[in-house]
Amino acid sequence: MISPTKCPCCSGKDFTDCCEPFLNKTVPPSSPEALMRSRYSAYVLKNPQYILDTIHPSKRKYHRLEDIIKWSTESHWIRLEVISALKDRVKFKAYYRDKWGNAHIHVEHSQFKREKGIWYFYDAEY
Ligand SMILES: [Zn+2]
Repeated sequence: MISPTKCPCCSGKDFTDCCEPFLNKTVPPSSPEALMRSRYSAYVLKNPQYILDTIHPSKRKYHRLEDIIKWSTESHWIRLEVISALKDRVKFKAYYRDKWGNAHIHVEHSQFKREKGIWYFYDAEY
């Protein structure tokens, strides 16, 4: 029996039961944590358009697709660790290696905002 693929967001769930329906835009993520996890999966799977599309419309102008492409494709994503998820905020650590092979831990405290019932990434503190 072939075991189904685990989700890149490290939830322990199968990809089909976790981030895949969000990345396919079949359904929107139901919580800020689910959205944050799907954005990490989009980095792993090199889907920069999803990362841009899930930024709050009022903040999208501050992000450039080229920069997202650069960061997602030049980094080798290793592991995601969600530290806390409270209301509209999620704190997490993302482990990755840069294009020179150096290991990094990206620590972020993200804020999310709901617009017409859909969660978006709003802002971040590092
Ligand atoms: Zn996932």
